[in-house]
Amino acid sequence: SRVPPSTGKVIIAVEVCLKPRTTVRHDEIKSAVERMLDKRSLAYEDGPVSFSQGDEPFLFEHVESIIISGADEQTTGNGVLLFWQVTLQVHVYQLNEGGPAEELEGNDTIPSFHEWMLPAREFHGLWESLIYESALKQHLVRYAATALLFSEKGVNSHLISWNRVVLLHGPPGTGKTSLCKALAHQLSIRFRDRYKSAALVEVNAHSLFSKWFSESGKLVTKLFQRIEEFVEDGSTLVFVLIDEVESLTAARQAAFSGSEPSDSIRVVNALLTQLDRLKLRPNVVVLTTSNITAAIDLAFVDRADIKAYVGFPSLRARYEILRSCVRELQRVGIVSTKEPGAFGTGGELLSYKSLSSRMSESTEDGRILLSMYISKCLLSVAEMCEGFSGRALRKIPFLAHAASTPLVSSAVDLAAHMQDTVVDPSDIAQ
Ligand code: ADP
Repeated sequence: SRVPPSTGKVIIAVEVCLKPRTTVRHDEIKSAVERMLDKRSLAYEDGPVSFSQGDEPFLFEHVESIIISGADEQTTGNGVLLFWQVTLQVHVYQLNEGGPAEELEGNDTIPSFHEWMLPAREFHGLWESLIYESALKQHLVRYAATALLFSEKGVNSHLISWNRVVLLHGPPGTGKTSLCKALAHQLSIRFRDRYKSAALVEVNAHSLFSKWFSESGKLVTKLFQRIEEFVEDGSTLVFVLIDEVESLTAARQAAFSGSEPSDSIRVVNALLTQLDRLKLRPNVVVLTTSNITAAIDLAFVDRADIKAYVGFPSLRARYEILRSCVRELQRVGIVSTKEPGAFGTGGELLSYKSLSSRMSESTEDGRILLSMYISKCLLSVAEMCEGFSGRALRKIPFLAHAASTPLVSSAVDLAAHMQDTVVDPSDIAQ
């Protein structure tokens, strides 16, 4: 989102999450954050901004976290964005702590849909935890933001065509569902000024149709009544997530081939008609995922403006995913940051970016040496994990810890056990 070339500045987002019960005015927080960043004259990088009680008592009292996003994609190589190159967009928000509400039907134990008020505590940090090689996340945000802007301004869709349907497809476990939820959460933060509230309704298409078709009709009606309640009030931004959208096609084919009761076709068609109608509402974004990458025979995803393929993570992404796992174990103290023995202290894992730029560096400084050593161990694990999904990667540290005797206590130990786990990956379901 570059601003007009006359200023030459790039826009980056600063997301300010307030503490749960704080009642402070958002504009006061906003100016305080702007003042703080201004004072610091930072070079901007994606990630959390730290502040202490000593230097920012007001923010410290009211603010839980400050996160910068959208800076990294604007720089190339090892470049950084300097303060005078950017325009900050500060978003102040408070999380909904309520958790999901679910709709259970009869004695069915699988809920047919869940709903959340956004931004939700449950999705806090999810966006940052998802790691992709290309600027996929930034593209999704920009796409959705443009689509919502066009709707809001009433752009004539006969003149410019666009819609608010997103389809993410690719192998299972690559983070598609999480990415949809995180996107909804993220947009609810960025669009706080324009919409009073935001909601996410997650429909599990599979559970909707895997049970008795006679019940499905009622479920679909109920589902869309609920969605309508949100949508009618134009000041709520509504995200409808349809997971495993291919099961709608499967259900329809089953109906055609006569292996399901004939009225099932009416249920699927009702759902599709409702979705088509929903798309016309300016405050609705439909997010869909599919595990099959072949063409999906459904009119409403055919016309999806964004169809993004989400594939297996690259080496960089695999390294960063594993690094985030190890850092979490370091944070809680299961794995120590200090390494016993010859290397001294300071076993912080390096980011992929700094690891690769310092690969050939030799140094006398023990601290750097240890960091390099641990990071290289982890890199070799990441290299072995080609073709693993993000979900499989996030299981490895757990399995490695469980299988180790004696128990691992250091990051190097853990990395070694992770290699063993990867060599014999029988437990790592893809
Ligand atoms: P899908 O919908 O594609 O089957 P999910 O959204 O259920 O995948 O992902 C399962 C979990 O795997 C996520 O919660 C996340 O922890 C992890 N994961 C998958 N891909 C990635 C990724 N690219 N970066 C970080 N974590 C990932």
